[in-house]
Amino acid sequence: MKVLALIDPQNDFVDGSMGVGKEKWAPAYDFILDLINKGEYDRVIMTKDWHPIHHCSFTPQGGPWPEHCVENTPGAEAFDNLEIVADRIILKGKDPDTEEYGVDLLEGEVNDEVDIDVVGLCYDYCVACCAKMTSEAHPKAKVTVYAKGCVAIDPAAEPDFGLATVK
Ligand SMILES: [Zn+2]
Repeated sequence: MKVLALIDPQNDFVDGSMGVGKEKWAPAYDFILDLINKGEYDRVIMTKDWHPIHHCSFTPQGGPWPEHCVENTPGAEAFDNLEIVADRIILKGKDPDTEEYGVDLLEGEVNDEVDIDVVGLCYDYCVACCAKMTSEAHPKAKVTVYAKGCVAIDPAAEPDFGLATVK
């Protein structure tokens, strides 16, 4: 089985409060659309950062980030209505007191002998963390991050992808 994982392709990460900017996002988004349009995936999973308004990661609470992806706001919506392609949406960061960059993308899946391709935002935080967690929790899965389908907050970062392959 081939799975595509779209990590946090949300307005706030594209051109909102934590936006990488539309210029950097455009080629990554084209790459993602190409992957989707090739039709090689049996399943598409999307994660969304989905925070309560007083989340601990926001600066007013002493966290490192500006307010972003507040639940049920336009900034938390998927860019370009991309959620219509998702078979499953995983919401993360819902607990006000817990930072959650990553989730196990295959949690609850019956069969974890899958090829899972990972793209989205942002390369050096949630993409890396999801790839690391998933690859370490499911050694039978083949986890591949496509850098061309991602944008980093810090282009110089060297994140830890765990057992995932980066192409
Ligand atoms: Zn967040």
